Amino acid sequence: MTDHYAVFGDPIKHSKSPRIHTLFAQQSQQDLDYVAQQVPAETFVTATNDFFANGGQGLNCTVPLKELAWQYADQLTERARLAKAVNTLAKQADGSILGDNTDGIGLVNDLIGNHQIQLAGKRILILGAGGATRGIILPLLDCQPAQISIANRTVSKAEALVADFAAQGRLTALGFEALAGQQFDVVLNATSASLSDQLPPLPADLLAANACCYDLAYGNQPTAFVKWGLAQGAAQSLDGLGMLVEQAAEAFFIWRGVSPATTDLIALLDTERQK
Ligand code: NDP
Repeated sequence: MTDHYAVFGDPIKHSKSPRIHTLFAQQSQQDLDYVAQQVPAETFVTATNDFFANGGQGLNCTVPLKELAWQYADQLTERARLAKAVNTLAKQADGSILGDNTDGIGLVNDLIGNHQIQLAGKRILILGAGGATRGIILPLLDCQPAQISIANRTVSKAEALVADFAAQGRLTALGFEALAGQQFDVVLNATSASLSDQLPPLPADLLAANACCYDLAYGNQPTAFVKWGLAQGAAQSLDGLGMLVEQAAEAFFIWRGVSPATTDLIALLDTERQK
């Protein structure tokens, strides 16, 4: 029997998730379908109730639904509870709905597994203090970095986030102007600036020797931040395509108990976007 999965979001037309999950299913011989459905925030609860009532097994939620999905879930994993955002809902054997957030582990798996960027003992800087930053903090802290600093345009948002995660590890909040004179080994752009081809105001000399840059955003062209990293001499300057595939792989594992292979799929999507 074919099991049903979907991604809800608004907008959703350009989502790569149906393609990724369909290829995962083919590769691991799982009998499932996966569709994208445009769901505005106002109809999220009704659409999600209908989806699970009609045999849906698992759902991904993207912008602007991750907080609503967090509220919807009957149980939450620890990383989702702290993130206050859910990107994966999974129907359990007793009919209840589990909420998880696979964005952070997706990022970590791409950094460490695909690009050999080690995080233990490293000075990490996260730019931005929105939903994506919330999702990645705990998995990053689990990698035992020397420090994590969070710089945001609106400093109070970075401070609130640091306060929420204070019990989990050492975090620092600051504004962009306070970055002058500091150096980092890994700089993660979790602002949405790249989506409008903008760059947060970053000082020169922000990168330590052999530092790596990573933009959570991705597109068909290198983002403004990826270009900045290359111009600053970063050892690697990457975008979030690998994170997208890795967070999907983690969701697939939650639903199906099978870890799909990701390397060839990332390479395929990377080649296609360069055409
Ligand atoms: P949010 O809207 O929650 O947060 C946006 C953040 O960007 C805020 O901190 C905001 O600052 C900051 N910002 C926006 N514009 C600028 C600018 N011009 N200069 C400096 N800072 C700016 O977005 P999300 O956290 O949900 O998403 C962030 C990014 O992560 C997006 O690009 C998204 O596509 C990407 N993402 C990628 C994933 C993947 O799988 N690859 C998964 C999830 C997210 P302020 O608080 O001051 O407004």
